[in-house]
Amino acid sequence: MRSSPLYINGKFINSKKTYIRENPATLDPLQEVSLASKKDVDHACSVALNAFKTWSETPPAFRGQILFRVVAQLKEKINFLSLINTQETGKPIKESTLVELGGVIRTFEYYAGLATKIKGTSQVINKELLSLTIKEPIGVVGQILPWNFPLLLASWKIAPALASGCTVVVKPSELTPHGTIELAKIISDCGVPDGVINVCPGSGEEAGDALVKNKKIAKISFTGSSIVGKSIVRNSSDNLTKLSLELGGKAPNIIFDDANLDSCLEANLRGGFFNQGENCTAVTRLFVHKKIYNKFISLYKKRIAEINMDEPDKNNSEMGSLISKAHLKKVTSCVDKSIKQGSKIIFQGKIKKGLNGHYFPPTLIEILDTKNILFKEEVFGPVVAIMKFEDENKVISMANETNYGLAGGVWTQDISRAIRVASQVDAGYLWVNTYGGIIPETPYGGFKQSGLGKELGSEGLEEYLRVKNISIFTGRSLPKWYGKK
Ligand code: NAD
Repeated sequence: MRSSPLYINGKFINSKKTYIRENPATLDPLQEVSLASKKDVDHACSVALNAFKTWSETPPAFRGQILFRVVAQLKEKINFLSLINTQETGKPIKESTLVELGGVIRTFEYYAGLATKIKGTSQVINKELLSLTIKEPIGVVGQILPWNFPLLLASWKIAPALASGCTVVVKPSELTPHGTIELAKIISDCGVPDGVINVCPGSGEEAGDALVKNKKIAKISFTGSSIVGKSIVRNSSDNLTKLSLELGGKAPNIIFDDANLDSCLEANLRGGFFNQGENCTAVTRLFVHKKIYNKFISLYKKRIAEINMDEPDKNNSEMGSLISKAHLKKVTSCVDKSIKQGSKIIFQGKIKKGLNGHYFPPTLIEILDTKNILFKEEVFGPVVAIMKFEDENKVISMANETNYGLAGGVWTQDISRAIRVASQVDAGYLWVNTYGGIIPETPYGGFKQSGLGKELGSEGLEEYLRVKNISIFTGRSLPKWYGKK
């Protein structure tokens, strides 16, 4: 069994408090996880603040070169990191390697290039006054991660922070800390000075809370549930810490009767069941036009039945286990409640004999009204709710009838309708005639209770910068104000 220690100031530290984390797909003990105390987190924040001067003054071109070295190392270690990721999360190895680690590499590559593109402005206010804006790294950043894409989401936070000159204290989920620790070590070995990247695995209540309340932290970047996101807003208010929050979702996917059905089925399989549905942008509410509803269901059922749920470290596994026993219980209870509220299971896969983990089969459920739990609440499992619609305006208003606003999709061959509908869906990331895949070059982030701020794209880098204005007098001498006769 391996150990997952803290990583502070370039050193591994075992904490006194530990727990044994299982492999969720086999239930075998996987790792002994060190749980950071408040004292450990406070120490990591002080170390990160000490490292800030050197790193923020390191020329951007040099920071970019180090990040390109990280890219090269990640390419070499892709299989090693993918296996850790699969063992921690229960997701298929194919998804870990091609999608998660592939995305990590692209993200580091993108921000390595962007390190040298941080630019301010100059503006002539009048012939005696010139204004310059300078973009400075914001300081020490606390980065709090969930368990569903531990390495991908770590890269979305760490890469722009390091490119901009910030130093970081990362708190991975207590369920999936090991990949992030290995990633931090790889980054340090590529030439990032000690103290620039620190990792404190631990509970949300102790380690996460200590990070949020630490006065040395200039910004918190959080990805997780809306409920914890709201508590972070409250708990950071004394320090007025800058926040970016990537929270839950309840994505609608609206399928009109002229949609290309082959592409649509393919995309909705990935949209609904990729990563066992433990995906904040997962298609969880499918609205299908009445004219093609029955045909869509019969084809979709057949395709869902083909998903190969198996041990996630097998190369042909297409769906693995959920993250934990508690999460399996939550998904099961949402489905039970939905059925009690009048919904109907249209299709449910089977769990193969011999699978001994927290597996939940891919499930398609027809819901009849917007009060059903599957319409409103994030389930975070392989459960897709499907509903019939006829009218364009009504379907847009149903799509928006949730507190979330993270992502959504529209399917139609009519370009005017595609743009008209996509622009009315109240969500931060929309797809038309495709679904899923978040690209590092594009800004990502939710509206309403799905979050604040953006990750990825140049907007994601801006989140780690603060703007300073410098006004310069260019005349010969200032006119007199006092004592003027
Ligand atoms: P969670 O909110 O329970 O935990 C997220 C992180 O916050 C963990 O590291 C946890 O230890 C920490 N935490 C918990 N309580 C805390 C506190 N009081 N103070 C500080 N930190 C605390 O979420 P989860 O179960 O790990 O992940 C699933 C959730 O994440 C889902 O709601 C999903 O939609 C969301 N998510 C959102 C995105 C996005 O990009 N919008 C991406 C992935 C996951």
